[in-house]
Amino acid sequence: MFLFDFIKFIYPNKCVLCDEILNFSYKSCFCDKCKKNIDVVPYSKDEDIYTMFYYNEMMRHVIHKFKFNNNPWCGSALGKIMADEFLMRSLKADYICAVPMFYKKQRKRGFNQSYIMAYEISKISGIPILKNTLIRVKDTIAQSKLGYKEREENVKDAFSVKKNNLLNGKTIALIDDIYTTGSTVKSCTKELINSGAKRVFSFCLCLSSH
Ligand SMILES: [Zn+2]
Repeated sequence: MFLFDFIKFIYPNKCVLCDEILNFSYKSCFCDKCKKNIDVVPYSKDEDIYTMFYYNEMMRHVIHKFKFNNNPWCGSALGKIMADEFLMRSLKADYICAVPMFYKKQRKRGFNQSYIMAYEISKISGIPILKNTLIRVKDTIAQSKLGYKEREENVKDAFSVKKNNLLNGKTIALIDDIYTTGSTVKSCTKELINSGAKRVFSFCLCLSSH
């Protein structure tokens, strides 16, 4: 049993927002009441960026709970709905890859929120997850604290790919929690393509209007 499966075993299925217990077969991770506050991003024709929900007050609360209140089970639940969406849109990839955190930050938080969601997508879709390949080599400032131009500068050369021929000719689905200006995924994409990947598209939980 993997750690995340174990976490789900201890914590019952409950609404990620208000903690209401959901019945076992419930597919979503939101209760009916909270579902009304979700703002779904309409389907776009852009095949490089997929996002699911607008980053409104409710999603801000969910992500905060997930990242800062040490609630990895919340990420598994969110990963599950991302996986459903991934399959529903018939997205095809050879690998699932999470936007990596700088190792010191990850050690402090105890987990990488994007990895937890990517793990769930990988498990449900059957697409293998790419581990320890794309790494964050710069301890960057949180993007949320910066303006558009500074964001781009902040993540420039922040990522690197460990020499690896796994990527040759492959399509990668890059997973992240919030898409704002796209600087982070662009920077990761550049590294993956330079290391042989044929195509990279990003699949993010939230779309923020900045
Ligand atoms: Zn709820």
